[in-house]
Amino acid sequence: MQRHDWTKEEILAIYNKPLMDLLYEAASIHRKEHNPNQVQVSTLLSIKTGGCPEDCGYCPQAARYHTDIDGNDLMSVSQVKAQALRAKSTGSSRVCMGAAWRNVKDGEEFEQVLEMVRTINKLDMEVCCTLGMITENQAKRLAEAGLYAYNHNLDSSEEYYKEVISTRGYEDRLETLNNVRKTNVTVCSGGIIGMGENLEDRAGMLVALSSLNPQPESVPINALVPVEGTPLAEQDRVSIWEMVRMVATTRIVMPQTQVRLSAGRTDMSKEGQALCFFAGANSIFAGDKLLTTPNPDVNEDMELFKLLGLEPMKPFTKKSQPESIDAKESKYKALGEKPKWTRPGHTIERNLEAKEKGKNIKTKA
Ligand code: SF4
Repeated sequence: MQRHDWTKEEILAIYNKPLMDLLYEAASIHRKEHNPNQVQVSTLLSIKTGGCPEDCGYCPQAARYHTDIDGNDLMSVSQVKAQALRAKSTGSSRVCMGAAWRNVKDGEEFEQVLEMVRTINKLDMEVCCTLGMITENQAKRLAEAGLYAYNHNLDSSEEYYKEVISTRGYEDRLETLNNVRKTNVTVCSGGIIGMGENLEDRAGMLVALSSLNPQPESVPINALVPVEGTPLAEQDRVSIWEMVRMVATTRIVMPQTQVRLSAGRTDMSKEGQALCFFAGANSIFAGDKLLTTPNPDVNEDMELFKLLGLEPMKPFTKKSQPESIDAKESKYKALGEKPKWTRPGHTIERNLEAKEKGKNIKTKA
């Protein structure tokens, strides 16, 4: 059963339980709702990297911070198909395509993404996209193409979000999730720990996610990977114990969701990851890169699965495969909308400093 009225205090009390009690409770719920020996393997593909106009303090893809990532234009449908086939052959049941955009704009590039969705759906894989903010019509078009999930993270609590991002508001995130909910596409939304937030912010994010009705089908929990050149470059890495507590708390608060171990897995030992699986994580991202940050090698993951007796989850275990409609039979057309997503534009000192530093690097180059 899903509860949508969790309070911050209740969630903090769970997070701070003696660890053995927390693990026991989370693992018991996990076993009731899921097969504890199955983990979904998802491949994250960066279909358009870098050059993003946003100022997310953790992200090396924001153009203003001038990090050393190699940007690229939108990949072709055939490139994406080849990568999806490779992912399928190594045990992935889902491909998540990420584009470094503020929001989706109707036009040629979006049409190309829709074709990618149709192509991967035909490979009998779950298709997920993370493309920034989308309108209701765009969500419907993605659904019609056969999209299985849309990812749009809340990142942190509403209060702490303002300390990390100034170029869009929390309510925009919620509106995009709401637009996705108007279709049969499942919702994937989670956040990042280790950005300097306190425990109340972590609990606040879980309040926001669990109050969504229905709760997201998938909740990624990322540990910040600090990248040189970004405003959060100097943050300390989170400990495995914080990660385990966050995973277990998420599992208890959202029993039916798939809890996904995301960025930060390279820093975790095998034992640490095993504890996370025991605490209720039942999904991982595979592939040597997570958009731009390092991730364990697929072979290493398969070795770990063997060691722990885990097996990759088959596609469409939780929900049947969506129908994919060809472009020419489409009911929905591009509307050429120009939605007014907010631009709060408040000042975040460390983001401004990182931007200035980036400018200097550019002038010297
Ligand atoms: S997280 Fe996404 S929206 Fe934010 S800067 Fe990076 S690519 Fe852009």
